[in-house]
Order: sequence, then structure tokens, then C-alpha cells
Amino acid sequence: MPAGRLLELSVLPVFYKLSGRRVLIAGNSRAAVWKVELLAATGAQVDVYAVKPDARILALAAQAGNVRVFERHWSTNDFAQAVLAVAEAEDEREALALQKAAASAGAHLNIIDKPQWSTFLFGSIVERSPLVIGISTDGGAPVLGQSIRARIETLLPDGLRRWASAARAWRPKVAALGLDIHARRKIWEKFTRLALAEPERAPADHDLASLVQGAGAEPAATAQTGMVMLVGAGPGDPELLTLRAVRALQSADAVLFDDLVSQQVLDFARRESDKISVGKRGFKPSCTQEDICELMIALAREGKYVVRLKGGDPMVFGRANEEIAALEAAGIPVSVVPGVTAASAAAASLGLSLTERNLARRLQFVTAHARGGSIPNDLNWKALADPLATTIVYMGVRTLPEFCARLVREGLPPDMPAVMVERASHPDERSLAGTLATLPGIVAKAGVKGPALTIIGPAALDRSALKHIS
Ligand code: SAH
Repeated sequence: MPAGRLLELSVLPVFYKLSGRRVLIAGNSRAAVWKVELLAATGAQVDVYAVKPDARILALAAQAGNVRVFERHWSTNDFAQAVLAVAEAEDEREALALQKAAASAGAHLNIIDKPQWSTFLFGSIVERSPLVIGISTDGGAPVLGQSIRARIETLLPDGLRRWASAARAWRPKVAALGLDIHARRKIWEKFTRLALAEPERAPADHDLASLVQGAGAEPAATAQTGMVMLVGAGPGDPELLTLRAVRALQSADAVLFDDLVSQQVLDFARRESDKISVGKRGFKPSCTQEDICELMIALAREGKYVVRLKGGDPMVFGRANEEIAALEAAGIPVSVVPGVTAASAAAASLGLSLTERNLARRLQFVTAHARGGSIPNDLNWKALADPLATTIVYMGVRTLPEFCARLVREGLPPDMPAVMVERASHPDERSLAGTLATLPGIVAKAGVKGPALTIIGPAALDRSALKHIS
């Protein structure tokens, strides 16, 4: 086993500068046409050998000044001066002949769709040139590679190419400032944060000016205030994160998260970031709202980019207002990334429209948990007992019997449908269906532990009956 941290590296990703160098392509298939296009885009001199060249190859040759077509079979001499060769081989014999010809010219060889006979492979590419990402499964699972590519594509806004090329243009200017390595690194860290935070915007000269401003001075003089983003972590399933949430997580210096946030969501955070639990089982035995605000302010004052990750949507029963007010009072920039609230996730898994025409004219979210743990005493029961409403009760497992009984007393029929959804969007999600009269008993028997909410109203009817899992 080779020494070092990597146990095995089946292929080495390298990025070949091909501009002006000669590459040879022997073949005529769709895959070959694509390789001609790809290699021509690098600025290489692309020489194609095909007895009857495909019309698309001829078209490329006509368009691009660096593609030449030779209407004949390849020969060993054609490999001279080529740094790379890409070819089709009918069988192993032809592959061996190609290998010999490539080796004699010192060229690396890719045999299309035959990784076992190739000395180099093409990966899937995410192109934000000059930012280029290559993905390989060592020929093992190209389709997996493509779908990973699709995921990365969605994570990287197209505008990043402009920032990557601005960095390339600015690099000599930053070098000319004569700063030490730490100061230069700081500049590039600030640049990176800006590029990832505002990728859609074109970088401008004033960005460079503000990046280098004060660089190299004493740290105290240049101390930068960080910022805080309140980010919705969604109901649990990481697939339900927004792209903006993922981007925020991937550029965070510190991530403060609640008990409700799932590990799979946390896995999206930048590897080097500090991940700090501020839930009930958090970094302090009883982590109060004030502690959380103080910690966020302290981290931001160190210049950190802080992600405050909250279950569901931060603006729904998330005490976001207190955090925003504290940060604003401390002069720290704060912004919010919305998330999928638990009610939306529960409705989606039950296939339940919360605003069924003629059944539910109103949709209301209510908490059944006041400071002391009992039902808040200022709820508007008249509104909650509206027979044409869908009511979603958050934080209401313990008070469910009392809540349902009260709704009946306020005038809702005891057979009004009610369904509790526990751990919506998690693999162990459960739903318990009943009515205002029966649900409390069903829930008590089932022993609900995880976060759960209750959907009450005529709209909770049909689908919930179908999906009864207990
Ligand atoms: N901001 C969150 C709500 C926080 S209050 C959101 O938008 O979803 C906490 C309550 O949310 C829990 O008591 C429970 O009622 C509900 N909840 C959170 N995650 C849930 C989930 N995965 N399934 C069901 N209910 C959930």
C-alpha cells in the first residue's frame, strides 16, 4: 500500500494545457465527434483520421481553425508529435496496434469506451472556465459520474466563471503589492467569500480596490466584521435544502445549529467550519437565546461568516426576530435564507393539498406551546374552530388532547379529520390519522417522540385515511 493519507487513488485528476499542442483523433462515432469538439475547445491542434468523416466533423473543421480532417485510416506515423490520442478500436488487436503507435510517439491514449485499454480517461466535466471540474469513476460508473456532474452543476452558478477569470487577471496585480503570504491569503479569502456570496454579479475594478484596501496593515486596523445568515435547514431531508442554503453552508466559517437539524444537512457545511450545537443539548447545559445571540455576535466580530441553521423555515416559529434584532443592534449584517417548513414537508408526503377548494379557504399555523409548556392563553379559538380552515399545529404533541377537546367545545365536529405527522421527510417518518375525537388516543398509544405536527380540517380527510401507517 502506498504511503500517505490516500489509501487508494485509482486515477490522478490532472488538467492538461493543450493550447497549440497536437492531438490525434481516429474515429467517426458520436463519441468521437464530441471528443473533437471538446479538444478543439482547448485550443489544441486537432487532427482527425476517418475514412468517411461524419458531417459534423467536417462542419467543425470548417468552423474552427484548429481542426484538420484526413479522409483515411490512421497510420503509426500520424502519431508523431501528438501529445494525446483518442481512438476507436473494433477489437483487442486494433487496440494493441493503437497502443503501440501511441507508445512509439510518447502520446497518451484513450480508446473510446474502453477504459481497460486506455492510458488516460475523460471524466465528466463541469465547465465554468477558467474554473473546470473533472469527475471520474475510473470507468466504473459513467452514469453515476454524470449525475454527480448534474448535482455540481446546480451548485455552481454560471457567473462564477467571471469571478474565476477576474481572479486570474487580478493575480499579478495582487502579487505586485509585495505583501507577505498571510496578507495575500487574506485577500483571496475575501475574494472567495465575495464570489460565492454574489456569483451572479460581474466582478468590477472597485471590488479589487476594496479587497486590497488595508491589506498588510496591522490586523487590528483591518479587522473585518463578518456576517450572519439565518438559514432554513428544512424539515430534515437534505434534498429539501435550497441551493442558496447549500451555498451558504459551503462558505461558512461557523455553523450554529439547533437540535432539529439533521446530521445529513450538517454534512453540507464546509469541512473546515466550526459546527456548534446550540440546541438544548448544546455547547452549554442550558443554551439560552441570549447565549446564542452573544455567540453569533462574537464570531461575526472576529470576521467570521456565520450560518445560523434553523430547522424548517427560520421565519416560522424560529425566534428569528430576536436574533435579527440582536444582530442589527450590534451592527452586524444579517440576512435570511428561507427553508421548507415542516407543514409543507408533511403535506407533500401525505399528498395532501392544504387549501382544497371548497374545503379549506384558510390555512393557519399555530403553536400549541407557550413559554410554560401549556397551550398559549391568547389563541383565537373562533378562528381555530373555523370548519373551512386547515390548521397546522406546531409544537403540540403534549397538549394534543386538550387542544382537540377545546376545538370540539368551540364548535368543530368531533369527527373532523386530524392527522399527526412525525419526523416529516425523515426516513422514519410516520403519520397517524384520526379525528379530533380519536387522534389523541391513537397518538398516546403510538408513543410519538420526534418532532411532530398535526393537520386538522376537512382537507386532512381522504389522503390521510389512505396513508394510515401506525
Ligand atoms: N421553523 C420550524 C419550526 C420550528 S418549531 C419549521 O419551519 O418547520 C418546532 C416544531 O416544528 C416541532 O415541535 C414540530 O411541531 C415541528 N417540526 C419540525 N420539524 C418537523 C418534522 N420534520 N416533522 C414534523 N414536525 C416538525
